[in-house]
Amino acid sequence: MDYDVIVIGAGSSGLMASVAAGEGGARVLLLDKGDKLGRKLGISGGGRCNVTNAKELDELIKNIPGNGKFLYGAFATFNNRHIIAFFEGLGIRLKEEDNGRMFPVSDKAKTVVDALVGKVRSVGVDVRVNSPVSRVIYEGGRASGVLLKSGETIRSGAVIVAVGGKSVPHTGSTGDGYAWAEEAGHTVTELFPTEVPLTSQAAFIRSKELQGLSLRGVTLTVWNGKGKRLIEHTGDMIFTHFGISGPIVLRCSQFVVKEQKKNGGTAVKTTIDLFPELSADEIYAQTMTLCRDESRKAIKNALKGFFPEKLVPLLLGLVGLKEEITYDNIPKQAWMELAKLAKSFPVSINGTLSIEEAFVTGGGINLKEIDPKTMQSKRMDGLYFCGEVLDIHGYTGGYNITAAFTTGYNAGKHAAETTKHS
Ligand SMILES: Cc1cc2nc3c(=O)[nH]c(=O)nc-3n(C[C@H](O)[C@H](O)[C@H](O)COP(=O)(O)OP(=O)(O)OC[C@H]3O[C@@H](n4cnc5c(N)ncnc54)[C@H](O)[C@@H]3O)c2cc1C
Repeated sequence: MDYDVIVIGAGSSGLMASVAAGEGGARVLLLDKGDKLGRKLGISGGGRCNVTNAKELDELIKNIPGNGKFLYGAFATFNNRHIIAFFEGLGIRLKEEDNGRMFPVSDKAKTVVDALVGKVRSVGVDVRVNSPVSRVIYEGGRASGVLLKSGETIRSGAVIVAVGGKSVPHTGSTGDGYAWAEEAGHTVTELFPTEVPLTSQAAFIRSKELQGLSLRGVTLTVWNGKGKRLIEHTGDMIFTHFGISGPIVLRCSQFVVKEQKKNGGTAVKTTIDLFPELSADEIYAQTMTLCRDESRKAIKNALKGFFPEKLVPLLLGLVGLKEEITYDNIPKQAWMELAKLAKSFPVSINGTLSIEEAFVTGGGINLKEIDPKTMQSKRMDGLYFCGEVLDIHGYTGGYNITAAFTTGYNAGKHAAETTKHS
């Protein structure tokens, strides 16, 4: 036996698994196919590394809509409080930003990645980069090592698969773990892009007239074909050359993906409430007052202070109002339509960017086949899975990294307990 524990993948989950296994006294080897450790962690949170989220446990779970409840067991041992204490123990000061998001005070992902990698080395883990694994070796009903692409075989008492999903493959996550899981008798639930920008063929998207327009504090709602509200999120978004993106769009994206799966891929209706705090009647009254106060101005100019400038011609066109008219000529009916449109501006969505372009991969190794406390396979002894390769996905905001750290920690700890000095 060369090692007690081999960890495949030096992302968020694999690095934390290595720390826990090393601290647990196991002889650990961490393998990564790339030349750097923690590459995806290093670009998370806009390059500032969104290490975790400070919300209460129940809120954390709610923000992990892809099977967050599976994590109750793992969180009992290692949760966001432990993550914060872990990094502060390494001398990394953290700060809380909006919505509980935690970042290093340095605002540099490198600080976090370097500290984590330093900890991995300090607990005696052997690290090998540029070492792609081609498969996990299964013998006599247990995982007993790995075969590298180079042809080298390395033996171990346990193998932790921490290779991530399929998103942003240039960081190394190319979906290698799914086939290894299937070979061990696991099922893999359907993979799909999540936390992903949405594409639209709407005329105003194709014309690119709204490209670059950011909306703040708006509500995006996703509807099904029967007119039922599937989800809504309030916050910021942006129009792009292909559709819409930004925090609330990413949050809504999985509901669009699931609805399209149900409806055979037809377009999904979304609407934007530009003024969640105001009713249509209030918008009607406020815009009327605005135009009355500037009664000599064309309405397209008078409304600029109320609506984002880029939106004004589009909104007026959609309700059949001429841009040049002034207050005296406003048709009341069309004005009411304008107010209603501001509460429910439709954007027809025809799909998403690809799974490779998504922030997170939805679906993965079926959780029914994984022990929720230890992340050990119920199909193969000595085999563990952690991180995004599992069928767990959260909203952006530190939730995916938290899930990766907690599953990684528990996998490493248990693998060490069961294998050390075997
Ligand atoms: C741009 C971006 C921003 C993000 N921002 C946030 C955010 O703000 N908040 C949040 O919660 N989440 C965010 N995420 C998601 C989060 O970063 C991931 O969910 C999380 O890092 C996944 O960790 P992991 O350990 O499962 O996989 P990864 O971090 O993807 O690590 C997998 C590792 O395995 C290695 N590997 C793969 N195959 C092999 C093989 N065959 N042999 C050897 N090594 C292999 C890879 O090289 C890689 O290093 C973001 C993702 C992206 C892409």
